[in-house]
Amino acid sequence: METKKVEVALKMAGFIGPPLPKDLGGWRNYQAGEGFLQHLTFLGCSPHLRLAPEGDLQGFCFLRLADLGPQPRLIRGRETRPPRCPVCGKAYRATQEEYTAWQGGGTESRIHCPTCAAVLSPLDLRWRQTAGFGRCVLVVEDVFPGEAVPTPGFERTLQDLGTGEWQYFYTQGLQLDLLTMPRESPSPGAGPLPC
Ligand SMILES: [Zn+2]
Repeated sequence: METKKVEVALKMAGFIGPPLPKDLGGWRNYQAGEGFLQHLTFLGCSPHLRLAPEGDLQGFCFLRLADLGPQPRLIRGRETRPPRCPVCGKAYRATQEEYTAWQGGGTESRIHCPTCAAVLSPLDLRWRQTAGFGRCVLVVEDVFPGEAVPTPGFERTLQDLGTGEWQYFYTQGLQLDLLTMPRESPSPGAGPLPC
């Protein structure tokens, strides 16, 4: 994955600033850059954002960037609701085994919608902006769900990198630990990752 390319572009755009200590979940972590507030539109009443740590490395807005490997992996939070079938719009209630496989990059198996019998790839499911699949993830920490939206210009900057399609969504309780575990073989039928 061309995460380095993404990192360089984010630096050039001023979205990310100096790196932070690595003990924030084991990902590459950055302070907000000088251009950070130009690339996101904040909705609602003007948020009081702390953009720099004040000792405890808690309760401030910072960025995480991670390379999740060659296969798309499910990124979701503890509160993520069941996804919807893209054909009939009804909920698809995935099993824990499916969630575990998807988070580990095992998305080759097809699934069947129990309502309309459509045969789907897990990548086709609609998460309504509460989760998504990706090979590279950029996380804006400590912003309320729905409060910040990338500007069209910033979205274009990411799309123009040629690293694939970018989407955004909102999660609470992002399960970083599941995403930082070593991956099993990406071949179909790979065993689930240990919980
Ligand atoms: Zn369906």
